[in-house]
Amino acid sequence: MIIDTHAHLDFPEYKSDLESILSRAKEAGVGCIINVGTSLASSEKSVVLASRFNTIYASIGIHPHDASKVSEHNWQTLESLVGKPKVIAIGETGLDYYRNRSPHEDQQHIFHKHLALAKAHSLPVIIHCRDASDDCLKILDEHKNGMLNGVVHCFSGTKEAAKKFIELGLYISFAGSITFSNANTLREVAKSVPVERLLLETDSPFLAPQPKRGERNEPSYLSFIIPVLANIYGLSVHDIERITSFNTYKLFGIDEPEQEGKIAYAIRNSFYINLTNRCSNICTFCMRETYPIVKGHHLRLQQEPTVEEVLHAIGDPDKYDEVVFCGYGEPTERLDVLIPVAKFLKSKNKRIRLDTNGHGDLINGRPIIQELKGLIDTICISLNADTAEKYEEICKPVFGKKAYPALIQFIKDAKKAIPNVQISIVDIPGVNGEKCKQIAKDLGVDFRVREYNVLG
Ligand code: SF4
Repeated sequence: MIIDTHAHLDFPEYKSDLESILSRAKEAGVGCIINVGTSLASSEKSVVLASRFNTIYASIGIHPHDASKVSEHNWQTLESLVGKPKVIAIGETGLDYYRNRSPHEDQQHIFHKHLALAKAHSLPVIIHCRDASDDCLKILDEHKNGMLNGVVHCFSGTKEAAKKFIELGLYISFAGSITFSNANTLREVAKSVPVERLLLETDSPFLAPQPKRGERNEPSYLSFIIPVLANIYGLSVHDIERITSFNTYKLFGIDEPEQEGKIAYAIRNSFYINLTNRCSNICTFCMRETYPIVKGHHLRLQQEPTVEEVLHAIGDPDKYDEVVFCGYGEPTERLDVLIPVAKFLKSKNKRIRLDTNGHGDLINGRPIIQELKGLIDTICISLNADTAEKYEEICKPVFGKKAYPALIQFIKDAKKAIPNVQISIVDIPGVNGEKCKQIAKDLGVDFRVREYNVLG
């Protein structure tokens, strides 16, 4: 389900045809819309809309433009809306030094009040920040205390500002302006935002995307924004939809995703096979124990699948360019399943990749590379360190001191039997990248540095 996390359907622009707008949104796959209040009256209307329509949720707040008009009575009435059904966020609040419709001091004062309200009720905050990143960050920093959660909507700042908002734990969303032909700088900023921190929004009725630029915007127009984001991130439209929906769930608690780990899952044009939760390493950088989600897919398996279950999960492999044995644990822990599944895929002429920690010989108690010959086209082996000591420190292998020499031997064997061999490290402090690169060169295999915390 796609979610428009920022729209103003209470505005007069939708007075005559709101039902048609919602029906078009549904047809476009937009299953939920967060209607964001901009004044006391607009917040009250948001609450009413949320009670009238299943698909609408409400956020309540007063826009920084109106900061100087907020009376104590108004504020108390706004506060009384917090407990109403389907009120899931506080905002739109923040700072706008571009239009300057309220004095900066008033904007800052009301922004502080919104943040305190959000924290008091453990609700996320929806932030408007225009030409005011420094002050916005300063105020947010004062309120973080480990409890601040929210999104900077319709982001228009720099890469550096985006990084700081993300470090504070916030999400970022881009409206239709990301599609404009003259928005190359904004697209570069978007590229710097991890997709795990991205949300979708239209900001309807404003900022309609290309090719509707200049018209009234509506939630169904997310269908023009998503392909642009997919292009920016080098992901598919489905990837962006799934990942941003998961992000929205994490922030706003809307549309809980399936909790069952997936045996097979797609990212871009690759199809991944997840055979086990087990791994013979406990790498310090691994997110398996704390966060079993990769690009919006839940991967912690309830039980290890049989060959038949894996084949059933694969379905028609022709839809994908490449099949990858990867997933949540170490695939060679399940060699008895990996090999028959790889044989089936090879019979369909699929290109197959194996991502492994290189412990396959130790795990299975015998050299395994000959069993993979002719089945695996590419093998990516995690080297992770330039010395056995460093490897033990970072990866904490269950095989102890035997692990690193066995890993190096596995790479040498793979070089003789598998057409493409790549070894990799993760870009973390303390790992000597140059020495690892030299090891790859000496072994005659490819080398890659993987970004910390980026999976899939
Ligand atoms: S080898 Fe891979 S799956 Fe295993 S602990 Fe390390 S990072 Fe995680």
